[in-house]
Amino acid sequence: MSKVALVTGASRGIGRSIALELARSRISVAINYNSSEEMAKELLCEIKKFNENVNIYKADVSNEREVSEMVHKINLDLGEIDILVNNAGISQIGLFTDMTSLERDRMIGVNLIGAMKVTKAILPSMIHYKRGSIINISSMWGEVGASCEVVYSASKAGLIGFTKALAKELAPSGIRVNCISPGVIETDMNSELSSTDIKELIDEIPLNRIGTPDDIAKAVKFLISDNAKYITGQVIGINGGMVI
Ligand code: NAP
Repeated sequence: MSKVALVTGASRGIGRSIALELARSRISVAINYNSSEEMAKELLCEIKKFNENVNIYKADVSNEREVSEMVHKINLDLGEIDILVNNAGISQIGLFTDMTSLERDRMIGVNLIGAMKVTKAILPSMIHYKRGSIINISSMWGEVGASCEVVYSASKAGLIGFTKALAKELAPSGIRVNCISPGVIETDMNSELSSTDIKELIDEIPLNRIGTPDDIAKAVKFLISDNAKYITGQVIGINGGMVI
């Protein structure tokens, strides 16, 4: 039987590339999305050309009921989840003092508490079978902090703490928990940056280019493999050398 992976926020960007990479490795893939149904359906069709074991699941990761219904459906359709990639996330640029309480709570609710809700929903079966791999997608701003992305940075720093503590708690159950910390990656999340902004960013990146979603997907593929079986509780920076 093939392994089963849930990738949250897989309709677009980094999550989409991760879902494709895992499906190419003959893993059954649950594609989670929240609002981009057409893009999720388009990805489903693309994967079905080479892997039948795939489906799409709508759920807002910050909504506990929707998360629990999604996990229940995945278990029925594809089987118990062996691999979880907590990728769903939102960002907002602006001064901390200009952010409303609602915007702040939404960002923490999706980026940090959403990952906790999905993780809690899938853990009983991983603990029962004493196997599993969880990967949280943080950000280099969670490591070093970004001006004008204060709450985003806090949510991503929280994911790093969540990863390290959960890795210790779950290691006796044979479950590994790791974190990927991307730098600047070419997705819709950075679509508001002007070409001048991008050029200035590239000047700060030692490897002299913006990252691609595929750069992250390849690292996920490694972390879930047996080649990484002694790696847990780690934060893997994929940022072209921008944060070391
Ligand atoms: P993106 O292109 O904006 O895609 C975000 C994805 O998250 C979409 O699939 C979206 O689904 C999903 N999502 C958002 N809110 C959700 C919710 N409440 N429930 C379920 N899914 C939700 O962003 P990206 O660049 O691929 O980012 C993916 C992850 O990488 C995020 O956690 C982000 O913080 C992190 N990251 C990105 C960068 C970067 O430079 N791009 C750098 C560091 C870290 P729908 O469209 O269906 O709503």
